[in-house]
Amino acid sequence: MKTIGLIGGMSWESSIEYYRIINQEVRKKLEGLHSAKSVMVSVDFAEIETLQHAGEWVALTARMIAAARQVQAGGGDFVVLCTNTMHKMADAMAAAVDIPLLHIADATAARIKARGITTIGLLGTRFTMEEDFYKGRLMAKHGLNVLIPDENERADVHRIIYEELVVGDIRPESKARYVGIMRHLVQRGAQGVILGCTEIGLLVGQDDIDAPVFDTTLIHAQVAVEAALGEYEIKN
Ligand code: GLU
Repeated sequence: MKTIGLIGGMSWESSIEYYRIINQEVRKKLEGLHSAKSVMVSVDFAEIETLQHAGEWVALTARMIAAARQVQAGGGDFVVLCTNTMHKMADAMAAAVDIPLLHIADATAARIKARGITTIGLLGTRFTMEEDFYKGRLMAKHGLNVLIPDENERADVHRIIYEELVVGDIRPESKARYVGIMRHLVQRGAQGVILGCTEIGLLVGQDDIDAPVFDTTLIHAQVAVEAALGEYEIKN
């Protein structure tokens, strides 16, 4: 079994889910007392969030490269960056270490395509929904059509992530808002919805909507286990 190199703390509310899921998956696959081999580098999210909203992406890239090198030095065989947003820096991180990086959008796209879906809705932070590093990868590398919520919907999706979900604050009114936004994406033609922020699965899930839901935390963690067990080949 390979050692999974997690970069967490963005936020720890979702990192803890990764840790739980990878261990549950290993137990399911190998049975008995088996558990996942892993190392985790966990950052202070307050520092990260401040730099994100100040647009300090050069400084953030340096921090993520340092975290990837720490994971490598700690014995990780591949990098699992436990946040969608910070995949903005994924290529720079992958280039800075000798171990591969398991890209969250690639793992998710494989699941979407396996369901025969071609048009997919995307929820996430503003960075993830609006910039090209994520949407563009889904479109260019995986041939998917990606729909994002309207402007006022994106504002709420982003605000609820940073004001509530990253501190574990789960509110019924925010759940109702998310479900309404997901339904609207489906009305507009989305055949499914990506929960493209690692905390969204704490708020909504497959039970809330008829269309298929792709929870990036669950998928990324499951594919990390497949990679650790040699069932999935990471291609950067
Ligand atoms: N965990 C979130 C994501 O998957 C947001 C926190 C962050 O900005 O890293 O995008």
